[in-house]
Amino acid sequence: MPRLSEYLLPTEREPPADAEALSHRLLVRAGLIRQVGAGLWTWLPAGWRTHQRIVQIIREEMDAIGGMEMLMPILQPAELWRRSGRYEGFGEELFKLKDRKDADMVLAPTSEEVITTHAATLIRSYRDLPRVLYHFQTKERDEPRPRAAVLRSREFVMKDSYSFDRDREGLDISYQKHAGAYDRILDRCGLEWYSVEADVGAMGGFGAHEYMAPCPAGENDVVLAPGYAANLEVARAEAQPVVLPSAPAAPEEVQTPGMTTITQVAEALGLPEGALLKAYPVVLPNGSLTLVMLRGDHRVNEVKLALALGSSFRPASAEEIERHLGPPGSIGPVGVQVPVLLDDAVVADGGGYVVGANRPDRHLRGVVPGRDFAFARGDVRAVVAGDRVDGHEVRIERAIEVGNIFKLGTRYSDVLGATYLDRSGVAQPVWMGCYGIGPARIAAAAIEQFADDRGISWPRSISPFAVHLVTLGKEGSEERALSERIYAELVSAGIDTLYDDRDAGPGEKFADAELLGCPLRVTVGRRTLQSGELEVQVRRGQEPRALPLEGAAAAIAELWRHVA
Ligand code: ATP
Ligand code: MG
Repeated sequence: MPRLSEYLLPTEREPPADAEALSHRLLVRAGLIRQVGAGLWTWLPAGWRTHQRIVQIIREEMDAIGGMEMLMPILQPAELWRRSGRYEGFGEELFKLKDRKDADMVLAPTSEEVITTHAATLIRSYRDLPRVLYHFQTKERDEPRPRAAVLRSREFVMKDSYSFDRDREGLDISYQKHAGAYDRILDRCGLEWYSVEADVGAMGGFGAHEYMAPCPAGENDVVLAPGYAANLEVARAEAQPVVLPSAPAAPEEVQTPGMTTITQVAEALGLPEGALLKAYPVVLPNGSLTLVMLRGDHRVNEVKLALALGSSFRPASAEEIERHLGPPGSIGPVGVQVPVLLDDAVVADGGGYVVGANRPDRHLRGVVPGRDFAFARGDVRAVVAGDRVDGHEVRIERAIEVGNIFKLGTRYSDVLGATYLDRSGVAQPVWMGCYGIGPARIAAAAIEQFADDRGISWPRSISPFAVHLVTLGKEGSEERALSERIYAELVSAGIDTLYDDRDAGPGEKFADAELLGCPLRVTVGRRTLQSGELEVQVRRGQEPRALPLEGAAAAIAELWRHVA
């Protein structure tokens, strides 16, 4: 148990100039991490203690569901990635390199290719299933925008596990076991979290959940209502109604000189933005154009749109819009030759919408879907706060994804030849799931959630130390001798203690202790000698306590068990 006079804990008064996220500022200021390059961080000793505590909690819960820990390499042959289609498909995030023999290699961002290749040779019969394998390994990802220090870095440790089952029902069971393990991991780490329905992504899949930690530095929006939680990427809800002007017998043209935005046109016509339809022309990979139409007060949700189109897409260029439809800024669905995809929230109910007329400076009003243009339907808009699910209004919160679980199905087994022989000796594809969780993000999320204006306030299970013991006694003093005695007692009681025995003033020592955020701070000074009581501060809430010197270590251990 370290003495601070001999320990590396380089605390700083000022955060790095470029640090926006609270966890970034505090991790650096508390002396827990240091930057090496863009998206590259070193964990210093106290920071690594927290990281490894989280790793240990994850390990225990993975082992409890029958997971077997192993280790796969970071450096992997490109050949495996070519076979899965991800050598190109993973995109720019994949680090590619060559070895001395000029063979293509990758630095693994995840390990489906390697584990499935092993499964192809190591799993032979139905008796070999189910299995859960996992490792903690460094992941390399050339993130487009590394940010917020360890929240999104280019190199980080992830626990990734993989389940192998005989069939879909087996996969469902393995998935549920992982969901339970993840619930327990995040509870034990002391986080506030929820699990949300997630996008299964372009790769397909049979279901996915993300574990979200609400915090301002998060990069995801989560839609919440009683009994409902989903990533905004996939959330569906009932839109708030909009009152439309009644529709004339046929659309009427209106002059909208120089007006190209929904706001301008809505204002000029004295209508709510939801009474207009906005156009979002997209081009599919085969080159064809689809005109997506949604309410003027709504925004396209790209994940849901791709799902509705059944394909990836890109926004049409100004030139393509001009060629197929009309001048950008005045686009509408009436009289066009391209398919129209109409968002589910567009309901006319006897009224008419305002749309672009596909001519400069003109819009049409009184437009009724079905009567004035043909369309296909789809739910392609982003949910907004105030929409309803099962009658309850939804709210939207920022959150960071700390883990996710995913039913892969046979996507990798099919291409990498992972089959097993069933009871009748017939080869069947292995059903797989994959499950990721990031200790660094858990640490950063805990800081984001519980820090106050003085610094970090660790959940006790992942704090670098249980107790931060501060002595106010100078070397050779009576209080110093008492501090040494308390320190020895704490250590022999098995309490992880950081002992601030530095030759520094009380102000500096207290500030560092509050910055580092261990759950209990114990102070020994002249007053301790006079009163016969130890001053203890519970970090969360900065609550002072006094404990008798007699039996102090046991009392501190007991107090520790009761803090958050
Ligand atoms: P995101 O959408 O935030 O990029 P992801 O979907 O790419 O995350 P996964 O590939 O599923 O993430 O990785 C599983 C876990 O690994 C994440 O839940 C997170 O805890 C962690 N993780 C992913 N990317 C990073 C990163 N760049 N830095 C730190 N941790 C990460
Ligand atoms: Mg990512």
